[in-house]
Amino acid sequence: MMESKKKTAKNPDRHPHGYSVRVKIFSGFLIFVVVTLLILLLFQVVLLPYLYGNIKIHQVKEGSRRIVEAADTDAFFTVGKEVAEEYQFEIVLISADSASRLKLSTTGYPECVLYDLPYSDCQQILNLTKEKGGEGLFSVRQTESQLVSDQDLILQPVSEVVYVIESYGGLLGTDGGNVIYATVFTTSSAEYLLAVNAYLTPMGATAQTLSVILLAVAILMTLLALILASYISGRIAGPIVRIHEKVGTFTEGRYEPCFDECSGYKEANELSATLNQAATELSKVENLRRELIANVSHDLRTPLTLIEGYSEMMRDIPGEATPENLSVIINEVERLNSLVSDLLETSRIQSGNVNLRRETFCLTDELSKLLETYTALTKRDGYQISVLADRKVNVNADRSLIVRAIMNLVNNAMTYTGADRSVVIRQLLREDFVRIEVSDSGEGIVPDQLDRIWDRYYKVDAEHKRAAKGTGLGLSIVKSIVTMHGGNYGVRSRLGQGSTFWIEIPRLK
Ligand code: ADP
Repeated sequence: MMESKKKTAKNPDRHPHGYSVRVKIFSGFLIFVVVTLLILLLFQVVLLPYLYGNIKIHQVKEGSRRIVEAADTDAFFTVGKEVAEEYQFEIVLISADSASRLKLSTTGYPECVLYDLPYSDCQQILNLTKEKGGEGLFSVRQTESQLVSDQDLILQPVSEVVYVIESYGGLLGTDGGNVIYATVFTTSSAEYLLAVNAYLTPMGATAQTLSVILLAVAILMTLLALILASYISGRIAGPIVRIHEKVGTFTEGRYEPCFDECSGYKEANELSATLNQAATELSKVENLRRELIANVSHDLRTPLTLIEGYSEMMRDIPGEATPENLSVIINEVERLNSLVSDLLETSRIQSGNVNLRRETFCLTDELSKLLETYTALTKRDGYQISVLADRKVNVNADRSLIVRAIMNLVNNAMTYTGADRSVVIRQLLREDFVRIEVSDSGEGIVPDQLDRIWDRYYKVDAEHKRAAKGTGLGLSIVKSIVTMHGGNYGVRSRLGQGSTFWIEIPRLK
């Protein structure tokens, strides 16, 4: 007992494990920010040039396909012009015998090189494309500029076809540059080479700018995460901290339902509501515990006083050691004995640690035996107890517990029955169950109390004259016993006409 008390929440040595809500939320946010930024970095900086290059290559191939499809039709040049202007391509048609070269659009673009390529390079493209089976993708890298005309001082870029590649995007990196896609196709009259040139903007600078932006965003988002985490954790942890402080009063034995149910959020309110309920229940238990101790000590003191009185009398007064006086003492000792075993039984059943000692027995016979037990009382106090059962029913259950449950109901019925002092015990058959009903002719029970009377220590009217000794445990014991047997229980009551308590337990067929 002492040991367990030392382990209560009040002990300063005790540090609960785990991180605070604040740390958890902040780390959650931080992970989210880092992952988001990494994804952005991957797509914006690492994959961007690659994706951009692939899109451009797809466009040149698609443009070429559209133009080649229009070969041999009147729309050939219109389509060529459209494609060139739509994608800003330079497109050239070269006859396979290299005799002629024709621009499909008059508009040239300063970054593109195809219109300015020396004839030899065109020739090279044609040859390489033929070698490659009629299709080729070329990267054009311009070497340093050369002064080609002294008079005009025009700087003419001298280009050379550097290599042929199949998939361009991956190799492009962030440098940008020109790509030429060439296809050889034949019309009804001759063989041609279609060369389409696209310019890929260098991505290096863009990627760098994006990296700087991402860094700034990362810092901003981390700060934001910090602020949000402390705000949210404050809102979440606040009510928990307040609840924790108030729960501390439980350890001092003060069970007050003082938890605020309208603060914070739903879960905290639910926790508060549950704790308020727990506090109410605990204070009830605490009060009843005191009451029970008072009742029990009173019940113990009466026989003890008698025993003491009679024993002293027998010791001090010669001739008083009569068998009658001795039997008073013996009777009182027996009463004490049964009182103590009742209390032990009650606590055993209430603790829920009962092993059912099941046996098969005839319940109807038990009812008859019960009636005999009550005969003495019936005679002395004028009770009219009757048992109505039309056939014998066997059950497999813990005999003493079932008898105890029925006796609790009969005792209550006798306590609360009306002036005619009648109590009727009925045995009814259901499909799989046998039902025992105990009816009285008393005042009945107010409807809103009907559910609560089954609670532990619940008494409708603590001042009830004949129930003065009631502990409020009887019905809760009935409930525990019936539930342990997989049965049902219930009550119906009409004010002024009496109540019928019933239990159902599985029967043998
Ligand atoms: P107690 O020891 O107080 O009888 P119980 O758990 O047996 O405890 O009963 C709980 C309350 O239910 C009683 O205080 C009483 O008010 C009410 N009650 C039980 N049986 C009857 C009945 N037959 N008629 C009217 N009220 C009853």
